[in-house]
Amino acid sequence: MDANLYSLIARHAPPGGSAPCILEPGGPVVHYDQLFAASARIAHALVAAGCVPGDRVAVQVDKHWHVLALYLACLRAGLVYLPLNTGYQRSELEYFFADARPRVIVCQPDRLGAIAAGQREATVLTLAELMDRAADHPAALEPVPRGPDDLAAILYTSGTTGRSKGAMITHRNLASNALALVEEWGFTRGDVLLHALPIYHVHGLFVATHCVLLSGARMLWLPRFDAREVAALLPRATVMMGVPTFYTRLLAEPTFHRDGCSTIRLFVSGSAPLLAETFQAFEARTGHAILERYGMTEAGMITSNLLAGPRVAGTVGPPLPGIDVRIVDEHGVPCVGDAIGGVEVRGPNLFAGYWQMPEKTKAEFTADGYFRTGDVGQWADVGAQRPYLRIVGRARDLIITGGLNVYPKEIEERIDALEGVVESAVVGIPDSDFGEAVAAVVVRRPGAVLTEADVIGALTGEIARFKLPKRVIFVDDLPRNAMGKVQKAVLRERFAAP
Ligand code: AMP
Repeated sequence: MDANLYSLIARHAPPGGSAPCILEPGGPVVHYDQLFAASARIAHALVAAGCVPGDRVAVQVDKHWHVLALYLACLRAGLVYLPLNTGYQRSELEYFFADARPRVIVCQPDRLGAIAAGQREATVLTLAELMDRAADHPAALEPVPRGPDDLAAILYTSGTTGRSKGAMITHRNLASNALALVEEWGFTRGDVLLHALPIYHVHGLFVATHCVLLSGARMLWLPRFDAREVAALLPRATVMMGVPTFYTRLLAEPTFHRDGCSTIRLFVSGSAPLLAETFQAFEARTGHAILERYGMTEAGMITSNLLAGPRVAGTVGPPLPGIDVRIVDEHGVPCVGDAIGGVEVRGPNLFAGYWQMPEKTKAEFTADGYFRTGDVGQWADVGAQRPYLRIVGRARDLIITGGLNVYPKEIEERIDALEGVVESAVVGIPDSDFGEAVAAVVVRRPGAVLTEADVIGALTGEIARFKLPKRVIFVDDLPRNAMGKVQKAVLRERFAAP
């Protein structure tokens, strides 16, 4: 059978096609048949621009429902969709274009001139120009048959060290993951997803839209997250997906209250760790236990807390059906009990490798087909049928001080629990004596009079001496990327000098 993800989406659409799919507050309602018709027209326009199956289409544009139609168009025409963070600048874009060699580049009007000047092979145009071209084409198109291992997308990982790598995502990866999530999170045609995530990342593009499209549901489509707007729109939604920052911002929003959540059946969080404190404060304010899940570009969604079952703060739940997760020591041997080790994953969700980096790909897979996620974790017995995964941090964030391992999360959790602390990030900074020294970067609550000595004093006797921060640095905010991840590399660099 044809494994094209578009065919699967079309089979799951509500019959007749006239059901609403995308609701833009204050804007038009886009029905399923309109979305599909637009995608067929765009697919024809891309083919007319010279695209043949397997060609890459790079897209760096603001969020708009036409972008979703463009993504579906690429699936339909057997092209490889390559979304790019709207924050990427010229030199970064040049790298992506040289690496992926797209046939078509769709960009913002203000970038058109500069990008077109540097491109000989690709057709460069704005989304409006593409839509103009598409308007002349038919609204129907048989999807190009695809095998399960054919590429559907390339997503460049944000990679804080070295060059960004293009993760090759297949139709099988996307379909298997989407079907598992629809089932696990109980999506039905009656659902309305509040969609305020960016759509250049796996979370907003795949997780959120696939759950909607494969259940025939609909989504409230917002260009960006604005806490006041979201609080006002929640009564029209049944599910919200967000990064942890969405939840902390909602908690800080005075108009956000329990009554506004009465239609919501599920709040999902992922892409970065959700603080236990946020989980608890959200539950106290709304009565909802946020469902935290864990995933990554290379593997889609990997684990999830349960829809009907315990949701445990600080954990990301058991593996999703069909996915194997193991925790291994430095020799690759599975850990026993709750020992901390590297998280490895295997299953139909696993990407096909890094674009044109066979060596790098080989290095990240084990001989028996597991992918080394680069995350460090442990199994936690939470009293459920299966142990839940706890993510302790990224392997590269591990601090080795005087030859001893320090996992930042253990220290961050203790500092976060101190009176007067909003949040913290613990990083290793160069130290002539210890190799690396533990440094804590702390955000204080307004008005709090917490000093370095207070923080170190509070931890003394609670944790081993070698784990105690040698420096405590107070800042107004932690640097975060668009998905809410704390950029530890930025902190390491900023505080490397004594
Ligand atoms: P990305 O490929 O940009 O989606 O980033 C994936 C990384 O985000 C993972 O490898 C984890 O380090 C982190 N991540 C995603 N979800 C969670 C979570 N729920 N808790 C902790 N870290 C997470």
